[in-house]
Amino acid sequence: MNSSNFRVDENILNKLLNPEDRKDLLDDIFKKLESLSSSEIIELKFLEISNGRIPVITINKPNDLSQIKRVFVFTGAQHNEYNGLFGQIAFLSELIANNSIDLLPENSAIVLFPLMNPYGFLNPRRDNKSGYYLKSGANLNRCWRRTFIPNFVENNEEVDLKPIPENSMAFKNFIQKYWDREIELYIVDFHETSLFRRFSEDMAKNLNAFYKFEHPYQMWTVQYLTKYEDLPKREPLFVKPSQCIDHLHFNLNINQGEKLREDFKKAWEINKDKLPFYYVFTRKSKDFCKSIAKKVQDNLKDILWDIRKPAHQHVANHGCIVCLGYSTSRPKTYTCELEVDKQFFNLFEEAEKCNSDRVYFTKKLKNINNTIEIVKETIKQAISS
Ligand SMILES: [Zn+2]
Ligand SMILES: [Zn+2]
Repeated sequence: MNSSNFRVDENILNKLLNPEDRKDLLDDIFKKLESLSSSEIIELKFLEISNGRIPVITINKPNDLSQIKRVFVFTGAQHNEYNGLFGQIAFLSELIANNSIDLLPENSAIVLFPLMNPYGFLNPRRDNKSGYYLKSGANLNRCWRRTFIPNFVENNEEVDLKPIPENSMAFKNFIQKYWDREIELYIVDFHETSLFRRFSEDMAKNLNAFYKFEHPYQMWTVQYLTKYEDLPKREPLFVKPSQCIDHLHFNLNINQGEKLREDFKKAWEINKDKLPFYYVFTRKSKDFCKSIAKKVQDNLKDILWDIRKPAHQHVANHGCIVCLGYSTSRPKTYTCELEVDKQFFNLFEEAEKCNSDRVYFTKKLKNINNTIEIVKETIKQAISS
């Protein structure tokens, strides 16, 4: 893995695609992190848990913690997604190559958690959704409120996660020294989802006046991918058909539905080889998150979907990192999340496609490197915000 401008190359992608090679790849990644952390103000530690090692890198921590005013924490790879892992490596590589550590804001520290679920990384199987889950079968991104807010009980999904995973406890213990201070704490969490692409592919074919909308991302995609002037002016654009509670329909007649499908298809053709993305915030992190989203969108126009609104309020009530920021009584806690295209939803299917189709492999490599660009740019905009 060479340094200055880090990219995922063919060799890394091949190893990602082959579970047998994951151990080797992780050794390389850890070596890379070690080589990037050899300076005085970049410190690497491994948090040992019973089924793996969680790397954590602290940048720019003052010797005297009372000097500190803001801490930016970036997390990645809670699930089978590696945009955060490789994006954080790319950020660190660039920081060192450009000699720009001195330019970091004073009194601010940066903490990188590039690999929160090392077990999933090393053990992608069909029965754990290609490494999506922890060894216990739990979804790590549902336990954060219970980890940080004593006796938190609100949602059954979270109650099921007893005991609290070692992964989130290790994270909590590490950042406790910051959490306990009256400072600004920003946590940006990197994820991937297959929904944008799956829904768009279907809608490009099947959208009509009677299309069933069962997920908020479907409506989001129509509204944000189709040009504003092409959207029929109907308020509301989506309605609940009588006696149905599980989905919505367009509030459109057949002709308007046909026109919308044509417009959507056009938008899809323009955007499909680029990267879908979506930032999520809470009421508390809204300004921070929206400003990052806007700057990243402007700076990476060439590789990102051209959408009308890149940041949205978090809707579900569950124990993810974003909800932690919303539910905690700790002041000045700003949490947000970035979702981009999922690369390894089904690792085994991806391996098959990549092995039999060179064009697909090359496209995937490009797509993965675009996910790294957006992560890197997000970190840069966050710490300079
Ligand atoms: Zn995720
Ligand atoms: Zn969430």
